[in-house]
Amino acid sequence: MAKRDYYEILGVPRTAEAEEIKKAYRKLAIKHHPDKNPGNKGAEEKFKELSEAYEVLSDPQKRAAYDSYGHAAFDPRTRAGAGPAWGGGFHDPFEIFREVFGAGAGSFFDGFLGGTRGDANAPQRGEDLRYDLELDFEEAAAGCEREITVPRLERCDQCDGSGAQPGSRIRTCSHCGGRGQIISSRGIFSLAQTCPQCQGAGRVIERPCRTCRGAGRRERASKITLRIPAGVNTGARLRSAGNGEAGLRGGPPGDLYVILHVQPHDIFHRDGDDLLCEVPINFVQATLGAEIEVPTLNGKATIKVPPGTQPGTLFRLKGKGVRNVQGYGHGDLHVRIQVEVPTHLSAAQRAKLEEFAALCSGKENPRTQSFFEKARRLFR
Ligand SMILES: [Zn+2]
Ligand SMILES: [Zn+2]
Repeated sequence: MAKRDYYEILGVPRTAEAEEIKKAYRKLAIKHHPDKNPGNKGAEEKFKELSEAYEVLSDPQKRAAYDSYGHAAFDPRTRAGAGPAWGGGFHDPFEIFREVFGAGAGSFFDGFLGGTRGDANAPQRGEDLRYDLELDFEEAAAGCEREITVPRLERCDQCDGSGAQPGSRIRTCSHCGGRGQIISSRGIFSLAQTCPQCQGAGRVIERPCRTCRGAGRRERASKITLRIPAGVNTGARLRSAGNGEAGLRGGPPGDLYVILHVQPHDIFHRDGDDLLCEVPINFVQATLGAEIEVPTLNGKATIKVPPGTQPGTLFRLKGKGVRNVQGYGHGDLHVRIQVEVPTHLSAAQRAKLEEFAALCSGKENPRTQSFFEKARRLFR
């Protein structure tokens, strides 16, 4: 049977970002998990296929190999001469599932994942959060500190995250014995169902906390101060460890990922760590030469424009670009000269220019002269 395309399996475009791929995997993996589809061979196959697609597309190196060589990149028979070699095939689909959903979430399905029954009371790590932050060009180049407000689930301080009203007890669910699931037999089938008494939590709170209604967390708008390093650019992702949602049952919090969007500048154009600036000068400066001032990120610099400078001439100011975000020095500032042709001439100026034109022999403009010599034969 021909192998299906990994992007197709996950239902994502080829340009999908890591977050999107993970999200697609999460959704489909829950749907096709064998635990949810007992006895369904097709689901098992789908689940395996999904994890393989996710394993490849979530790893930038493997994804690049797949994009270039397709399935051949991982096929031991065709691998020679194709992509880089990955021995040992793919990982256990359940392993990948546990990795993505975290150890705590794994307990949800543990009955199927190798026999050891998970503890429904196990701590669970909080979810990661994403925040999109817009920055000025200059803020991004110089680095800055920004305070942001993030709505997130925080540990309820009333019950300290337990979900129980202070003074009230939490006991193990007697219906399921704390497992969160009830196994019943229907003929040859054995069915795992969420315990109706505790809704899978494995424990029963006698009096739920009034502030969080027993959830142990509640939504709050939290202020977080971010330190943005100098030199960041659009698309950069900053991880603010522990600033995601609070964990459950004493689990650690998730992380906050901040995606940066840098606004364009009205004078500078950025290319990596280099800057480009187009500077207009007048035709007299270009002809006679001049010293001109050009803007830099933190002030100005002077450039000597030699006589006879043509439009488009580039000057490089070394180290006047953006600081490298990894600390490898600074980029350069490239200044491109534009020559502005004067408009709105006074009668006196016009007369002087006409006088100038009368003095011209053509030798002052060698490029014009040579162009028209070549073009003349086409003129009829
Ligand atoms: Zn129960
Ligand atoms: Zn509470």
